[in-house]
Amino acid sequence: MRVMKILLIEDDGAIAGAIIDSLEAVQWDVTHERTGQGGLARLGQGAFDVVLLDLGLPDMDGIEVARHARTSQEVPIIVISARGEETDRVLALELGADDYLVKPFGMRELLARIRAVHRRSGHSSPRPESEIVEVGPLTVDPRGRRAQVGDSELTLTPKEFDVLLYLASDPGAVHRRETILADVWDMNWYGSTKTLDAHIAALRKKMGNPDWIESVRGVGFRLQEPQ
Ligand code: CA
Repeated sequence: MRVMKILLIEDDGAIAGAIIDSLEAVQWDVTHERTGQGGLARLGQGAFDVVLLDLGLPDMDGIEVARHARTSQEVPIIVISARGEETDRVLALELGADDYLVKPFGMRELLARIRAVHRRSGHSSPRPESEIVEVGPLTVDPRGRRAQVGDSELTLTPKEFDVLLYLASDPGAVHRRETILADVWDMNWYGSTKTLDAHIAALRKKMGNPDWIESVRGVGFRLQEPQ
């Protein structure tokens, strides 16, 4: 297996040390930064496979770091934080973090999460669905990460795009909440279905017609061209 390159942005020396020891024990390559600015500068220089991001950093909030990173980088981000409140989780995930681990966590769990987000990021298995998806006037371009209805381009957050792509890839089919969550977020955490609802509501609004996405009571959602 090739060496994974991990960028760790964490100001707590003890936590960073434990993480570095665990990752180096499986022969991964860890670059450590203690500040948000330092982390973003590193990110601009090198190709990393996964970023581990603390939220409580001395110079800026980790949420801001994630937001900045997302404007230019596709690299998977795992937030590692003592802040377990749902608002932090929702915000981090909406701004493009791929997973969220609340401290304290076990190192085996951390390794498993890193492998999972890396696998999903497409480096190990190219997504077969890289072709443009069309459903009536809706087009979703997975490679360019653009979506439009008719001539108007939709301005979507990364996760809204992922949810839309997921639903549009199999129009007319009912997708279970759990499978959407598992595919788009690859995780189960308390309150996550509320996040999914928020994303669906935002998509309906941005698509200009709520009938694009139908709620199937007790099951999930279905995307189809409004009649
Ligand atoms: Ca911290």
